[in-house]
Amino acid sequence: IASTPTVTLGNRFARELPELAVAWQAEEAPGLRLLVLNEPLAAELGLDPAWLRGDGLGLLAGTAVPEGATPVAQGYAGHQFGGFVPRLGDGRALLLGELTRPDGALRDLHLKGSGRTPFARGGDGQAVVGPMLREYVVSEAMHALGIPTTRSLAVVETGRTVRRETPRPGAVLARIAASHLRVGSFQYAGTTGDADLLRRLADHAIARHHPDAGSYPGLFEAVVAAQAALVARWMLVGFVHGVMNTDNMTISGETIDYGPCAFLDAFDPRAVYSSIDHGGRYAYGNQPAVAEWNLARLAEAMLPILHDDEGEAVAVAVEALGGFRRRYHAEWSAGMGAKLGLSAEAAAPLVDELLPLLREKGADYTSFFRTLPRTVIHGDEALDDWAARWRALEPDTAAMDRVNPVYIPRNHLVEEALAAADEGDLDPLTRLLDAVTHPYDERPELARYAAPAPPDFGTYRTFCGT
Ligand code: AMP
Ligand code: MG
Ligand code: MG
Repeated sequence: IASTPTVTLGNRFARELPELAVAWQAEEAPGLRLLVLNEPLAAELGLDPAWLRGDGLGLLAGTAVPEGATPVAQGYAGHQFGGFVPRLGDGRALLLGELTRPDGALRDLHLKGSGRTPFARGGDGQAVVGPMLREYVVSEAMHALGIPTTRSLAVVETGRTVRRETPRPGAVLARIAASHLRVGSFQYAGTTGDADLLRRLADHAIARHHPDAGSYPGLFEAVVAAQAALVARWMLVGFVHGVMNTDNMTISGETIDYGPCAFLDAFDPRAVYSSIDHGGRYAYGNQPAVAEWNLARLAEAMLPILHDDEGEAVAVAVEALGGFRRRYHAEWSAGMGAKLGLSAEAAAPLVDELLPLLREKGADYTSFFRTLPRTVIHGDEALDDWAARWRALEPDTAAMDRVNPVYIPRNHLVEEALAAADEGDLDPLTRLLDAVTHPYDERPELARYAAPAPPDFGTYRTFCGT
């Protein structure tokens, strides 16, 4: 492994939590080719984009790491569709280490698709180009929408051929996060029965994410608050995560793991896109309840450090968990108010009427809100009656345009861009990225990026772990 002298990577996670880290290396890659690089993000991280495109390319695939770095696969557990798996971990991912941003903040530099690790179980450790570009587009769109998320720094083709239904070109996604600590990290530490490890993990999480928490119960409350706010933001923008297993829920409150995710077209609380979510456990409308359930699993894992007395620990957990609904509702109501150009209070009765109407009419969720200020006649009696009463409240329509996006990564546009990328044409991806990373600025030449899917697009299905 060649050294890369211009970047320093910390190993704070590996040092402070060795029980959760296995030192490991990325697999050799016969032919690295940069597909997409996030130059603004590189600059934020203090990385030189020109260097990354050239001599630094190996860093983005893990085949050349700086002297002194300790790449590790992270151990974590998780409830997958409700069933507990005590040992999941990074099966095809590596934490290369922590970058220190020019402003002093630490950011994980993490690779997905960098080869098998001791956590790989039956998996091949690989990722393919399409799904990694998909994560790149959707995560950067989420960031531009102001929603906390892991970021995408680059996608690099590896030159490895990956066996899927047909042979596919392999790729590595270089991902940036405040950290990759998950609810599942605490569950993993919890299963060891080692309270000292739990304490060190909690101390690490407090230092990195919730420095004002002040105590372990304070940390739990901070995670509850961060996740309540996050899931409210998802709901407001029509995002369906698709695989809200506890290993895919962060301690930082960032969205993580863009596998089977999708954005709503027609508003429907039952919307499910993932091909494996047969029961609709992770349907759009279930997401707040699932988040709360996941946080209860976090509380269980943290019980030994919430209080010395078990009964008291449970009481602390129950009290803090009770805050989830209140916080979620406050965030969501304020957000819905803003989408309608009103205060939460003024909007509440109108929102209660609107959502069943949208569902009944199968209205496109995103364009309904964006076009509402400029729509004189909806052509539907119930909607027109609703709109007249909404308008009578004198909403702030200019403010609405700053919270209701024109451009989201619509499923048909993402698929179109990935199909072109598969044929070697990255232009549609570049154009889509340009639209969704400026989601509020309407541009007439981008009209087709604002439109709902054509009827012949059909039912959308997404896939995990590809
Ligand atoms: P996910 O559903 O993406 O959250 O992944 C769940 C678990 O499966 C994690 O431990 C992943 O690292 C692992 N995993 C997913 N795909 C692969 C793969 N191709 N090879 C090895 N491990 C994988
Ligand atoms: Mg995952
Ligand atoms: Mg995944």
